[in-house]
Amino acid sequence: MTDTNKQTGLLLVISGPSGVGKTTITREVIKRLDAQFSISMTTRPQTQSDTDGLDYMFVTEDIFKQHIENNDLLEWAEVFGNHYGTPRKPVDEALASGRIMILEIDVQGAIDVKKNMPDAYGVFILPPHEDVLLKRLRDRAREDEAIIQKRFNKAKLEITMAKESNVYDLFVVNDVLEDAITKIVTAVKAEQTKRNA
Ligand code: 5GP
Repeated sequence: MTDTNKQTGLLLVISGPSGVGKTTITREVIKRLDAQFSISMTTRPQTQSDTDGLDYMFVTEDIFKQHIENNDLLEWAEVFGNHYGTPRKPVDEALASGRIMILEIDVQGAIDVKKNMPDAYGVFILPPHEDVLLKRLRDRAREDEAIIQKRFNKAKLEITMAKESNVYDLFVVNDVLEDAITKIVTAVKAEQTKRNA
């Protein structure tokens, strides 16, 4: 800790395949670490479970392109034909004020973030078994079967990419939800303590 007692901010990247329980885990980690959530910008259609301005900022392709041109995005990626990106300013501000900023983004995005910000701490959430993913994707009944299959195939690819990427400091299996949350919270607190020592 410095003599001003100011904590160093920490950029926490959380990734994991669709249906792994990422959103549930992230929401709880935010509460327990008093962290800030990075609201991504996306061109994907809003679903019933999304709140605009809270879960995502839903924008048109034109507006998204404008933000890329203005260099407003820390990273962006195309996922299932839609664009998703992390607004840069809130991340810079949160880190400057010593907070933990959480990015819930895919592996491509995490690789880009790590290139620009090598101090980012990466967590990847794994399913207990691949079959669990398919079941969870179907249970949430958010998309039709063709999209579910696309998400399932991408999920399998993402797990392989994540393991080979060198971006993630921690891999957590979401078997028992509470255990997964505790593991992440404990690891991030330990990392913060180490960095502030
Ligand atoms: P969903 O449409 O299910 O909310 O998100 C699809 C995927 O896009 C998830 O893997 C999610 O983590 C990822 N994602 C959400 N926001 C961003 C972002 O700002 N950048 C990147 N690269 N991926 C994102």
